[in-house]
Amino acid sequence: MICKSLFVYTLAICFAGAVIAQEDHVFKREQMVKTQLQDRGIIDPLTLYAMLNVPRHKFVPKNLVEHAYRDGALPIGSNQTISQPYIVAYMTETLKLKSTDRVLEIGTGSGYQAAVLGKIVDSVFTIEIIQDLAVSAKSRLEYLGYDNITVNWGDGYHGWPEKAPFDAIMVTAGADSIPQPLLDQLKIGGRMVIPVGSNDNITYLVSVLKKKDRVITKNMFPVRFVPFTRKQ
Ligand code: SAH
Repeated sequence: MICKSLFVYTLAICFAGAVIAQEDHVFKREQMVKTQLQDRGIIDPLTLYAMLNVPRHKFVPKNLVEHAYRDGALPIGSNQTISQPYIVAYMTETLKLKSTDRVLEIGTGSGYQAAVLGKIVDSVFTIEIIQDLAVSAKSRLEYLGYDNITVNWGDGYHGWPEKAPFDAIMVTAGADSIPQPLLDQLKIGGRMVIPVGSNDNITYLVSVLKKKDRVITKNMFPVRFVPFTRKQ
């Protein structure tokens, strides 16, 4: 009898603990959106909605869960990082997304940015060059129920011709220049955001607008990203 009540009591404490931890993540996420995003000028309602509703703590390694909502990038294994929340939001807002859009992301990493995009648009196609990351991001996104995101393991330089054209493309690794296949796979009127810069000069976040007869690029601000690599 005593044993049974002890069991029920322990179960109740564990459950209460889980509820409190969950509420703590929701609170931290709300704070993140207010202080790191809105106070710094992010205004797009769809971007704010997505940042508020994607559980960032589910995309970081277990030992970093308590730091998931802090104002910075975090390691995700294989020498790669999940970007600072502000950069994720800024890049998302820059793409001026609509709910009907079809989007390509290069650099799946943890899958967090893909999940943010997935909350906003119709479909997301994302490519990761490191197999371990591609496999874990795919199962994480499936487990969390993101059924409009498709993950592929490969070199994103070539884009995803079978799924093109795209309304928007986001590259989350620093490239030397804008890959031509990505420009080719963008619709007329399509937008791209990509960090560009070679080793000896500063990497800038660049926005791209593809017009019928030309491509308009704009350097936004200097950023630091892990490098865009190529498959041998
Ligand atoms: N968007 C990710 C973080 C990106 S870190 C997230 O939300 O977690 C950049 C990622 O780009 C790394 O995982 C790196 O392996 C990947 N990457 C670098 N070059 C690539 C390429 N040519 N094709 C696809 N992925 C690439």
